[in-house]
Amino acid sequence: MLNFEFKNPTKILFGKGEIAKISKEIPQDSKILMIYGGGSIKKNGVYDQVKDALKNHEVHEFGGVPANPEYEVLIKALHYIKENNITYLLAVGGGSVIDGVKFISAAANYNGEPWEILTKPVRTMEGEGMPFGTVLTLPATGSEMNSGYVISRRETNEKLSSGGPGLFPQFSVLDPEVIRSIPKNQIANGIADAYTHVLEQYMTAPSSADLQERIAESILMSLQNTAPKVMAEEFNYDAAANFMWCCTMALNGLIQKGVITDWAVHAMGHELTAQFGIDHARTLAVIAPSHYRYNFEAKKEKLTQYAERVWGISEGSTHEKAEKAIVKLEEFFHSLHIQTKLSDYTKDFAGTAEKVEKAFTERKWLGLGEHKNLTPKDAFKIVEMSY
Ligand code: NAP
Ligand code: FE
Repeated sequence: MLNFEFKNPTKILFGKGEIAKISKEIPQDSKILMIYGGGSIKKNGVYDQVKDALKNHEVHEFGGVPANPEYEVLIKALHYIKENNITYLLAVGGGSVIDGVKFISAAANYNGEPWEILTKPVRTMEGEGMPFGTVLTLPATGSEMNSGYVISRRETNEKLSSGGPGLFPQFSVLDPEVIRSIPKNQIANGIADAYTHVLEQYMTAPSSADLQERIAESILMSLQNTAPKVMAEEFNYDAAANFMWCCTMALNGLIQKGVITDWAVHAMGHELTAQFGIDHARTLAVIAPSHYRYNFEAKKEKLTQYAERVWGISEGSTHEKAEKAIVKLEEFFHSLHIQTKLSDYTKDFAGTAEKVEKAFTERKWLGLGEHKNLTPKDAFKIVEMSY
């Protein structure tokens, strides 16, 4: 097992009715900016619950953070907090709102041009960001209990990530009741994103970190088990609760400790969102099967372990089991009504692989993957395979 440090300071308030407790988590003398997305919270009662919980605090509001949070919009929020001496941020939404709030937290005390935080990138250390908490409305990203974030810039078609130990939420409320109002396509996205987060930290070479590997496999199996129940018409509280906690556990740092991690699927997927606006999770479903086929030899042993332990496949040679593992992964995405080819999403895919290769080369992302040996030319080939 590799050496590691592990500290996750985010306090989780999990369960029905927990939103009411947030007033105790935020200092009474705070000037709070409540930040939210396109308005789903005003229709499903979450907005009212938050306002009620904070009725004795000073609360300002900033709505309109779009999916794949946009730099231009977040800069407006940054101006607002400076003009109004805001001291505490509250994200009420999915990964996009939470990521946007992390960027604002990092930028609030940063003295340079804010975009540098993403291009250099600048790590935000403990005590450097503005304090913030979250009320999660969409299980998917794990952003509610990690310190990373991803921001898009429309004028340059870029989607870049950053983070740092100073960007963990102080608290996050996970009330599974919020899942009642989520459209099924977004629930499917949440399952696929969380599932791929686990794969990025698991589908490498087998490691000696047995506990991390088995926790990862448990999250994958729990997501597979829960998926049909949360995709069903009727709301099932326990299924929703399991789905929500799986998504958080998939990316709160625990399973990546002591092991090597890949993250090339996310790197390539972000380019597809930046170019075509395809939902984040769907870009992962497009890239992951091609990535595993392209890197088949390096990942063969782990693909076999995944086939055996996660899908219960016992027949066939190692090679056959590993191939079957990728087919099972594709079938799982299809069971969520998520397509796995770029051509299923756009007719304008010609030239995409060249653009990805060029973007990675310009950014000097010359070695991706767990061994940092995937070149921009390899990314070209993987993206081309995904057409
Ligand atoms: P999202 O972009 O936050 O939300 C997607 C849509 O779902 C929005 O239109 C939103 O509407 C709606 N929605 C949210 N909660 C709802 C509810 N309870 N009922 C009805 N509708 C609801 O989706 P996401 O998948 O959570 O976040 C995606 C972003 O996170 C991407 O930019 C991705 O790159 C990033 N990401 C971050 C991490 C990380 O670790 N930080 C990891 C993976 C991905 P409203 O806007 O109206 O609320
Ligand atoms: Fe993701």
